[in-house]
Amino acid sequence: MNIERVGVIGAGQMGTGIAHVLSLAGVDVVLEDVNPEALERSTKLIAKNMHRQASRGLIREEMIEPAMKRIHISQGLDAMRGRDLVIEAATEDEAVKRKIFQELCPRLDPHTLIASNTSSISITRLASVTDRPEHFIGLHFMNPVPMMQLVEVIRGIATDDTTFQAALDIVRKVGKTPAYAEDFPAFIVNRILLPMINEAVYTLYEGVGSVEAIDTAMRLGANHPMGPLQLADFIGLDTCLSVMQVLYEGLADSKYRPCPLLVKYVEAGWLGQKTGRGFYDYRGEKPVPTR
Ligand code: NAD
Repeated sequence: MNIERVGVIGAGQMGTGIAHVLSLAGVDVVLEDVNPEALERSTKLIAKNMHRQASRGLIREEMIEPAMKRIHISQGLDAMRGRDLVIEAATEDEAVKRKIFQELCPRLDPHTLIASNTSSISITRLASVTDRPEHFIGLHFMNPVPMMQLVEVIRGIATDDTTFQAALDIVRKVGKTPAYAEDFPAFIVNRILLPMINEAVYTLYEGVGSVEAIDTAMRLGANHPMGPLQLADFIGLDTCLSVMQVLYEGLADSKYRPCPLLVKYVEAGWLGQKTGRGFYDYRGEKPVPTR
């Protein structure tokens, strides 16, 4: 199956990056969000990031204008008619995603495939609310999408071979490498990464180290390119909490208990870089630890 027209639902960090790489690969994209400000921010950011890539010699300047013209923004799901594939990248909340799929399906052609970019929610369970579980798959892009090489591809129990092959094709078309993961809570990358981040928050909570000490320790002591708390702010603390809740509930093991301090930051609305404050305060010239 040749995928030429794709819909992306959710113009946040991930939807923005997914629309960016698809349009550069020559795919026609409809980018949809309930929030018109998110759509405006998203298209501006895509243009800015493409220019940055051009200045680094990663793409050619003349690729930008045609790529931007391939991105059409929309508020409301009607624009998803006639798409070959719709990738859902809305907020990591199962109720939100279920509602989107229920409203989306009546608008789709019978051949349209649906993918979710969820970080942790069961693909089989999400597929079950659609009218086409055999045409449903997990496509888990990494953040920031234009820079990260991997996409986890997750089959639900009903996903058929045609859908799986089409998913592998689109991943390769955007220049990424697929890794197949079974449909278990948080798949591979987040099953390993998020418990490490949660443990870093416990380390802070228990006073073992300050924000700065923990991040320096893991950067210089484990050779990680970013400290775990900086990474948590980058991912979004709401997304981190949500993945831990899925692991805790899905695997019923107390080792995945979300750290109460992570819960507190999310309750405060300090969600990391996207809200200007998390384990660091980003409102000044350079990030300052908040603890
Ligand atoms: P985000 O908060 O930056 O963006 C979510 C967007 O979804 C917002 O613009 C919001 O307005 C929109 N939205 C909410 N409800 C909607 C609806 N009903 N219809 C249309 N749009 C709606 O979140 P994000 O970081 O981009 O994450 C999106 C998805 O990608 C989540 O499932 C998340 O788990 C997954 N993901 C995130 C990362 C990461 O590092 N942040 C990495 C991989 C996957």
